[in-house]
Order: sequence, then C-alpha cells, then structure tokens
Amino acid sequence: MEADGFFYAPDPSSQLACAIAGNIAMNSGGAHCLKYGVTTNNLLGVTIVLMDGSVIEIGGGHLDAGGLDLLGVICGSEGQLGVVTEATLRILHKPEGARPVLMGFDSSEVAGACVSDIIKAGVLPVAIEFMDRPCIEVCEAFAKAGYPMCEALLIVEVEGSNLEIDEQLDLIKAIARTHNPVELREAKSADEAARIWLGRKSAFGAMGQINDYMCLDGTIPVSELPYVLRRIGELSKQYGLDVGNVFHAGDGNMHPLILYNANIPGQLETCEALGAEILKLCVEVGGCLTGEHGVGVEKRDLMLVQYTPSDLEAQMAVKDVFDPAWLLNPAKVFPLKSSEKRRTA
Ligand SMILES: Cc1cc2nc3c(=O)[nH]c(=O)nc-3n(C[C@H](O)[C@H](O)[C@H](O)COP(=O)(O)OP(=O)(O)OC[C@H]3O[C@@H](n4cnc5c(N)ncnc54)[C@H](O)[C@@H]3O)c2cc1C
Repeated sequence: MEADGFFYAPDPSSQLACAIAGNIAMNSGGAHCLKYGVTTNNLLGVTIVLMDGSVIEIGGGHLDAGGLDLLGVICGSEGQLGVVTEATLRILHKPEGARPVLMGFDSSEVAGACVSDIIKAGVLPVAIEFMDRPCIEVCEAFAKAGYPMCEALLIVEVEGSNLEIDEQLDLIKAIARTHNPVELREAKSADEAARIWLGRKSAFGAMGQINDYMCLDGTIPVSELPYVLRRIGELSKQYGLDVGNVFHAGDGNMHPLILYNANIPGQLETCEALGAEILKLCVEVGGCLTGEHGVGVEKRDLMLVQYTPSDLEAQMAVKDVFDPAWLLNPAKVFPLKSSEKRRTA
C-alpha cells in the first residue's frame, strides 16, 4: 500500500503491537490525528459477531452508508458489544511531503499558549506534539535527538507540496516568534526530520527506564492548555510525585506521566489518587476522561464525574441490546455499582 502512494491515517504509538480490531474497540488515535481524525473518522464498515452467534455487517465501502448509523456505537465500545472480525478502512493518498519544526519555550504555559494561537490562526498542522522539561531530559538522554534543554518543547509538522509546506511553516514560525522561543529549528532534510521525531517517539520507553509510571489519557479544550498545565504542576507538588507531560497538544489529548516507585508502600495509591484528580480536572475544564486509551477498569469509577446516572443508564441500555446477558467485558467502562444488577442478571 505504502509503495503505491497510499496510507491509513490513525497511527497509535502502539502500532507495532496492536491490531485494527483493538484500534476500533478503543477508537485509537495518534500523532497525526489532528488533521486526519481518529479511528472513527477512518472506519467505513465492520463485520461483527454477536454473543448469540449471529454475524452482522454495519456500514459499508463508503462514508455514510444506509441504515442506522451504528458504526459510531461500535467504534470505541471497548469490546462490549460484539467481536469485530472484519473492517473496511478509509485509505488515503500520501501527501507529497511533510516537514516538522521544533520549538523550545521558557515555560509550559507559553508553549500551551503558542498551540492555542496556531489553532486559532486556522492553520491545520498534521501534528502538534508537546513535551515538558522532565520528558525532554529523559528523552534526550535516551534518544540523543538534539533537543534543547528548555521548559517545554513543541514539534509541529505540516504536509503538502513544498510550496504549501513553506507557506504553512512561515505562518507557524511567525506565531511561535511572538512567544519568544528559545529554539526554532525547521528540519532541512529527511534525516533531520527523523531526528526531531526520534525523541518524541521514544518518550514512553525512555520514561519507563528511569521509574515506574502511570500514563494518563484525558482530553481538554486546547484553549485550556496553559491553565491545565499550571494546575497539574500544583497537584504534582501537593501529592509529592513528579509528573512529566507528553501529549498530542493540537487536539488536546493529554498523556501526563506520573512517576512513582512501586517498591515504596503507598506510592501506587498516591499515584492513582493524583491521576484521578488530573482526570477530574480535564472534565472540569470541558474535556473528557479518555482521548484514546479508553475507560476500561481503571477509569470506570470516574464515569460519574463526566456523566449523570441517566446518561450511563442510556449507554448501558445499548449494551443490553447487543449483549443482553452482559458477557462481553462486563466489568469494564461502567462503575460496578451502576452495572451491578445487569451483571448478575
Ligand atoms: C506503549 C503504548 C502506547 C500506546 N499509544 C497509543 C496511541 O498513541 N494511541 C492510542 O489510541 N492508543 C495507544 N495505546 C493504547 C492501545 O495500544 C490502543 O488503544 C490499541 O488500539 C489497543 O489495541 P490492541 O489490539 O492492543 O487491543 P487490546 O489491548 O488487545 O484490547 C483492547 C480492547 O479491545 C477489545 N478488543 C480486542 N479485539 C477485539 C475484537 N476483535 N472485537 C471487539 N473488541 C476487541 C478488548 O476486549 C479490549 O477491551 C498505547 C498503548 C501502549 C502500551
């Protein structure tokens, strides 16, 4: 497919290990989803097997297939409705080219403000990735990508023809300059572009080498980035655990990494409590509990922070239709207390 000039857009960092069915169940995203959307925006149809053994097809070979629009219900349902056995995906033409620019800033808040300004200006980069100092230091030591030692770093990538790339990057660099960057480095070759991405792509593995960590996944409106980063810093101090921030900043999908030591009794519990506070903060500013990793077991008890009991009742009623005996992933997504009667029915 790639050799013929085509590609499938969603690019989770876990792509070497995960399967398309898992991506559909979790509505996965990735660095390039700012421009192309997440799995749900690139999925045309699925075949699923229901718990009574029947095989049904939803969607088709093109967008907006006939019938009820059930694809959105299946995508992101965390394996609770049926088993996906086939999928039809939207395959796109590869752009002529792509080029990243690396920006360093004196504070996370200034970097967050720069992201807001880029989005407000109406340019649509293919990716805007963010790292703060703890992540920059660890990634640089691990990947030797040539990152500047500053408080926050952005990688902004645009694509198109050379002319289109130049035009977009000129505007983006002009916006960045209004925030007094300590570094503004545009890749001049494929090699330099690869080096800029290398550190970011190694981030999770690099952090794992220095400590245990819990990776959060929540979303916020991009305009709230500066405030949320400041609050995460305050919460980190309050709970006594360091938090590294690396995330898809363009679409507000945050992945704060809370560092802790599993060998110190009580630290995991403190880490989980801090994680819950950060996710509640995401909801408080108008975001939600999950961007791409799902709710699963970890966040099921926080669902009532985002939804009313009636909201959850409506969502559980959908599961009743597809899986009346609640056999598929019964203990995921919904607070155990809310789903208790159904699970024991
Ligand atoms: C290091 C790391 C980086 C990650 N980076 C990203 C990222 O950038 N973006 C992102 O979105 N996610 C990321 N993830 C999370 C995760 O990898 C993705 O959500 C991925 O889509 C899960 O796919 P999987 O095939 O591994 O599914 P699994 O983990 O095996 O399963 C996930 C869920 O899907 C259900 N499921 C699996 N197969 C089916 C099926 N055939 N039918 C119905 N339900 C099914 C399972 O029951 C489970 O609830 C990351 C995870 C790790 C560990």
